[in-house]
Amino acid sequence: MLRKTNFYINGTWTPPMVPNDFDVINPATEAPFCVISLGSSHDVNKAVAAAKNSFEVWNDTPIEERILKIEKLAEIYELRVEEMAKAISMEMGAPIDLAINAQAAAGLGHIKSFIRVLREFKFEHRLRDNTPDEFLIHEPVGVCGLITPWNWPMNQVTMKVVPALGVGCTVVLKPSEIAPMSSLLFAEFMEEAGFLNGVFNLVNGDGPTVGEAIGSHPDVDMISFTGSTKVGIALTRSSANTVKRVALEMGGKGANIIFADANIPEAVKRGAIHCFNNTGQSCNAPTRMLVERSVYDKALEIASATAKSTAVGQPNEHGTHIGPLVSETQFNKVQGLIQSGIDEGARLIAGGIGRPDGFNIGYFVQATVFADVDNAMRIAREEIFGPVLSIMPFDNEEEAVRISNDTRYGLTNYVQSGDIARAQRIARRLRSGMVVVNGASRHSESPFGGYKQSGKGREGGIYGLEEFLEIKAVSGWNTPIL
Ligand code: NAD
Repeated sequence: MLRKTNFYINGTWTPPMVPNDFDVINPATEAPFCVISLGSSHDVNKAVAAAKNSFEVWNDTPIEERILKIEKLAEIYELRVEEMAKAISMEMGAPIDLAINAQAAAGLGHIKSFIRVLREFKFEHRLRDNTPDEFLIHEPVGVCGLITPWNWPMNQVTMKVVPALGVGCTVVLKPSEIAPMSSLLFAEFMEEAGFLNGVFNLVNGDGPTVGEAIGSHPDVDMISFTGSTKVGIALTRSSANTVKRVALEMGGKGANIIFADANIPEAVKRGAIHCFNNTGQSCNAPTRMLVERSVYDKALEIASATAKSTAVGQPNEHGTHIGPLVSETQFNKVQGLIQSGIDEGARLIAGGIGRPDGFNIGYFVQATVFADVDNAMRIAREEIFGPVLSIMPFDNEEEAVRISNDTRYGLTNYVQSGDIARAQRIARRLRSGMVVVNGASRHSESPFGGYKQSGKGREGGIYGLEEFLEIKAVSGWNTPIL
C-alpha cells in the first residue's frame, strides 16, 4: 500500500498537524491502494500563511520569469505524462487510453495554451489610444484557494493553478480527496520545476473541513471552485463574511437538439458516445437528447445500438471502452436515478439497473438509454453523472429551445442541423455559456463556463487570466503637478 500522507507547503513535504489517515480506493477493485491524510484548519492556516508570505516576491517577479517556470513545468509534465495518466486512471477509473489521450493530455494542453496567452496579455495599457492620462493596470487578486473535483482532475487543476500563478497570484490547492493522486504528482512536478517556495501549496482533505477552512479564511482573497452546484452554494456562503471573489464551475444538464436535416446516424451516435464518454462523468455531457419527431424512431434505434455496443472494461486495459464510476456513492446515485426513470414512466431501451454482465466487483455500470422522457422527470432535471442518456421528441424550433432552457443549469448545449442559419439562430437563444454546433471542436482558448446554476466566471484563454486579476484605474497617469 502506498503512503502519501504529507502535504506540500512552502516548498516542503509536510506531515499533517493532526494525523488523519484516509484510504484512496481503486474504483475498479473497490480496494484501497494508497493512504493519504485529511488535513485540518491548522494545515490550511500554514499553507495560506506560506502563500501570503510569498505573494509580494512572486508578484514582483517579471512575467518573463514566471513564464519560464511554467515552461519548465510543461517540460516535466510532458516527460512524465504517462505517470500522470496512470495516476488518473487508478484514482478515478478512466481507461488508460482515455487517461493518456484526454485526461492527462488536457492538463498539458492547458499549460501550453496559458503560456501563449500569458505572453500576449497586456497587463498595463491606456483605457483608449486617445486617453494618455487614463491608465489601467491588471494586478493579481492575491492568495487563491483552488478547490477541484475528481472527474477531470488535471484538466481542472491546470485550468486554475497555471493562470493564477502566471498572473502573479499564489495558491493553496485542495484536490478531491477521492482522487488526490494526480494532484500529488502535479505537486512533485511543481517542486521539480523550482517555483519559489510558498507560491504553490497543496493540502488534502475533505470539503467540510479543509474546503470550508479555505473558503472562510480571511487571508484568502479568491476561491476558484469546480464541483457540484450544491457545494458551490455552500462555499459561496462560507466565503461571504470575508467578501472574497468566488469563481464557480459547476454542474450541467446539456441538451443536444437534433433536427431532421442533420446527418442523423452521425449526429445521434456522436451525441450518445459523448454522453457515455468518461462513464458519463463530465459536466458538459449532452445528457438530454431532443430529436425532431419525424426522425425520432430512427434516432432511438441508433442511440440504443450505440449503448449496446459500448464496451465496459478495466481501466488498465487499452481500448475505447468505458471504465467504472468513481465511487460507491456515485454508483448508488446512478442506480437510484435509473430506477427513478423507470418508476416515472420513461421507456428503457438500453442498459438499466445493475452491473454489466461479467462484472461482480467494481463500480461498473451499463450504458443506459431512456426514450419518451418528459423534461419534468428526475432523469431530465438532475445531473446523473453516469452514462445515462434521456431522449425526448420535439415538433418545432420553439419547443426545442423551450425544453432546452427549462433547466436550472446552463453549461453546454449542442445543436445538429444541416441549416446553419437555423443552428446560429438557436445558438443565440440557448441560455448557456457554451454551444457546440454539428460536432465542432472547441478552441483551446475559448472561454469555458456556465450561465445560471452552472457557474459564475470563465476559465481558459484570456478570460481565464482575467478571472485571477483585479483592474486598477489610474487617472492622471501623465498629469504633472498643476
Ligand atoms: P463536489 O462538489 O462533491 O466536490 C468538489 C470539491 O469540493 C471536492 O474537492 C470536495 O472535497 C470539495 N467540497 C465538498 N464540500 C465542500 C464544502 N462544504 N466546502 C468546500 N469544499 C467542499 O463535486 P465532485 O463530486 O467532486 O465533482 C463532480 C461535480 O463537479 C459535478 O457536479 C460536475 O458537473 C462538476 N464539474 C463541473 C465542471 C465545470 O467546469 N463546470 C467541471 C468538472 C466537474
